[in-house]
Amino acid sequence: MLITDVQVAGQRALVDVRCTHGLVSEIGSPLQRVQGEQLLCGVGAALLPGLHDHHIHLLALAALYNSVQCGPPDVANAEQLAQALRAHVRKGGRTGGQSGHQPEWLRGVAYHESVAGPLDRWRLDEIVSDRPLKIQHRSGKLWIVNSVAAELLALDENANLAGVESDSRGRPNGRLFRLDGWMRAQLAQDAQAGPSAMPALSAVSRRLASYGVTGVTDTTPDNGEFALQYFVRAAAAGDLLQDVRVMGDDTLPQSDCMQIQRGERKVMLDENTLPDWDTLLAIFARAHREGRAVAVHCVTPAELVLTLSALRAVGVRRGDRIEHASLVPAEVMPLLREVGVRVVTQPGFIRERGDQYLQAIAASEHGDLYRCHSLLHEGIPLAGSTDAPYGDCDPWAAMRAAVQRSTPSGMLLGEAERLNPEQALALFTSAADDPGGDSREIAVGATADLCLLDRGWESARLRLRSDDVMATIRRGELIYHRERQDIAGLVICER
Ligand SMILES: [Zn+2]
Repeated sequence: MLITDVQVAGQRALVDVRCTHGLVSEIGSPLQRVQGEQLLCGVGAALLPGLHDHHIHLLALAALYNSVQCGPPDVANAEQLAQALRAHVRKGGRTGGQSGHQPEWLRGVAYHESVAGPLDRWRLDEIVSDRPLKIQHRSGKLWIVNSVAAELLALDENANLAGVESDSRGRPNGRLFRLDGWMRAQLAQDAQAGPSAMPALSAVSRRLASYGVTGVTDTTPDNGEFALQYFVRAAAAGDLLQDVRVMGDDTLPQSDCMQIQRGERKVMLDENTLPDWDTLLAIFARAHREGRAVAVHCVTPAELVLTLSALRAVGVRRGDRIEHASLVPAEVMPLLREVGVRVVTQPGFIRERGDQYLQAIAASEHGDLYRCHSLLHEGIPLAGSTDAPYGDCDPWAAMRAAVQRSTPSGMLLGEAERLNPEQALALFTSAADDPGGDSREIAVGATADLCLLDRGWESARLRLRSDDVMATIRRGELIYHRERQDIAGLVICER
């Protein structure tokens, strides 16, 4: 691939960038296009390192993203129900038949009879018949499935199972009471084939690609072998476009898939049930012995101080990290600096929850919230993340929040912690295994993970908007282009 006329590393002079075998192979001006080479015209725009979201929960995000609200207030009648489900299919659900994939499950939640009375499989077939559909009742105890789903579940063969409702002729009508575990087990047998009880990742992965995201770190604490294998399979199927660093518990195995790598040992702390000192030391020491760094969830000052003290006692391993560091009192800063551990923060929470913080947290502590500038000033490596789905998954929104520090109602929160746009961008451009370290460079020999904007940095820095992302390239391959749906082998422009 040849990317022409782009700004690299903030330089105003435009260069061409060639990617070969997943790496940046040449940078110059001008470079001659090789016959058959994919061409992407930058027309003076900024070419950035692909973004890395250092703390996200992919499966939870996908479950949320893939769910259609099927009850009030979003949906009030049968017509709106059909509209909502069909709109979701159009928005992101892939249709069947593509490179042997099974169609993705469509998942509805929060249904109530006030919308369209009792539902059964045949009524659902009238709305969606080309893919499996399951809708959960608001009570949580009932799922209603369409006929494609009933077939995947082998429902007709299980008509006598307690909880399977049948019509007057004895045929299962698609209404399943308290059978969540059974449904999961039925589908797990078929997980290899495609549709499964796990949420499909493709729509959410494409969304992240549209933001310029080429890698994420999944920080879900109970990630184990099952989750890792699910990511590996999704990557092999082409459903997962990003590199994923997977944190998890002790059972998380190594991965031999280049796209999916095992990451740190995640340690959850809860101020009300903090582990005793020796237990915590043992957890840290064991992870280090096994060659893994630790990533410790620290929201409160007590959690932070305990963690820092324990890390000081066992010795920090390169890569050890504090997740969130939501409140860092000034008096803890010297300890943080001394221990030398890195911090993965979520400035987006200021933009999303800032007004709640202003109410719930004492004014004297407002300056301690999601610190950014003071951590950088103290030389503490700082990386950024969205914590989606608990925060908005758009990293550009998080960058804006880091620059603006304004709450939903427009109040300023932690003005002294503001970053400039370059610092905000850098939160998302350090390497997966070096959060808060130097930004990855666009240089010959570097992995070609890139994000092409539609304008120069001098203009983009004033907006920090994901709308400005024109194309996203991971390991030298286009994974997103704003104006083209079909990106395989595409020549974007002629020169
Ligand atoms: Zn999280």
